[in-house]
Amino acid sequence: MFVDRAIITVRAGKGGDGCVAFRREKGEPKGGPNGGDGGKGADVVLVAEDGMHTLYDFRGVPALEAKDGDPGGGKQCHGADAPDLIVKLPPGTLVYNDQTGELMTDLKPADRVVIAKGGKGGWGNEHFKSSTNQTPRRATPGAPGESFRLRFELKLIADVGFVGLPNAGKSTLLAALTRATPKIADYPFTTLSPQLGISELDAMRRIVMADIPGLIEGAAQGAGLGLDFLRHIERTRVLVHLLDAQPPDGTTPAQNYRTVRHELTQYSEALASKPELIVLNKIDLLMPEEVEVAVKSLARELDVDPRVGVLAISGAANTNLRPLLDKLWAMLHPAGGGVEHWKQTARA
Ligand code: GDP
Ligand code: MG
Repeated sequence: MFVDRAIITVRAGKGGDGCVAFRREKGEPKGGPNGGDGGKGADVVLVAEDGMHTLYDFRGVPALEAKDGDPGGGKQCHGADAPDLIVKLPPGTLVYNDQTGELMTDLKPADRVVIAKGGKGGWGNEHFKSSTNQTPRRATPGAPGESFRLRFELKLIADVGFVGLPNAGKSTLLAALTRATPKIADYPFTTLSPQLGISELDAMRRIVMADIPGLIEGAAQGAGLGLDFLRHIERTRVLVHLLDAQPPDGTTPAQNYRTVRHELTQYSEALASKPELIVLNKIDLLMPEEVEVAVKSLARELDVDPRVGVLAISGAANTNLRPLLDKLWAMLHPAGGGVEHWKQTARA
C-alpha cells in the first residue's frame, strides 16, 4: 500500500490563569474578592475536508499550537475562551498517537474530532471566599492543554499508472510531473521498486501517479512486481502509455505500443482494460514540423483519433505537461467533482 504520512505534534491551549483582585469602591477600601476565572484553552480539532487527497500540506510543519485562554481579570471579568484550532485532513486519514502507537481516530467524511482538549481556565479568587477567609489571595492557574505527537497516515490509491518500454521516459516524466513522493511500503518479493508521485494541478486538485516498471523489464528477467503491488496498481483508473517518439533501436512508436499492450494483457486483464492515454514522448528530439507528422502516423497506425487519443510531450524538456495533466484530470473526473473522486478512491 502506498502511504502518505506525516508526523506532527499538536498542543491544545492552556487555560487562562484565575485572577486575584479585590473590589475597590468609594467608601469600601477593603472590598471582597472579585478576581475572575481564566478562559478555556483552545481545542485542537481535526476536520475531514472533502477534496483533500494528500498530506502534502503537512510537510515541513513540525508542530501546531492552539491558543491559550485569556487570564481572568478584576471585577469578575472572565477571561475569553480561545477559539479552536482547526486542522483539515483528507477523509480516510488514520490518526495515531505516535508515542504509543494507539489509533486515535479514523477520519470519515464530514467528521470533526477533538483530538487534544484545551485546558480549563483557573479560578479567580472570588471562588475562594469563605466565612473564615474574606480576603482570599488565592487563585488557580489554568490547566495545561493536552499534547500529542500524532502520526497521520493516508492510504493512497494511484489514479494514474504509467506503462511503457524501458527507457520510454516514465521515471523522467514522473519526476517532472510530481513534487511529493510518498513513502512506499515494502513489498516482499518485489524485485523492482514501484515509484509513486503526487501531482498538484492547483491547491485542490491532485493526481496520484504510479510508474509501473517491470511489466516488460521484469518479465524479461522472470522478475515481477509482486502480487500485492499488482493488486494495488489494478485500482488505478487511467493508464498513460508512454512511447519514445524516436526509439534508438529503429523500431517505431506503433510497434512498441503493440509490444507493451501485448505484455499488459498477459500480465493483467484488469489493467489492460483501463482507459488509456497514448503519449508520444521525447518530442524535443524531433523538428517542430515532424511532431505533427509523427502524431498523425502513430494515430493512423493505431487507428485512434489523433485529437482524442494521442498527446505529444517531452518529459525532459517540460513540453505539453500542463495539457497532459489537464487531460488526465478530465479523464479521471468526467463531471469534475472532488467528492466523487474521494468516494471512488476510497471504495477502490
Ligand atoms: P524509463 O525507463 O521509462 O523510466 O525511462 P527514463 O525516465 O529512465 O528515461 C530513459 C532515458 O531517456 C534517459 O536517458 C532519459 O534522460 C531519457 N529521456 C527521458 N525523457 C526524455 C525526453 O523527454 N526527451 C529526451 N530527449 N530524452 C528523454
Ligand atoms: Mg524507470
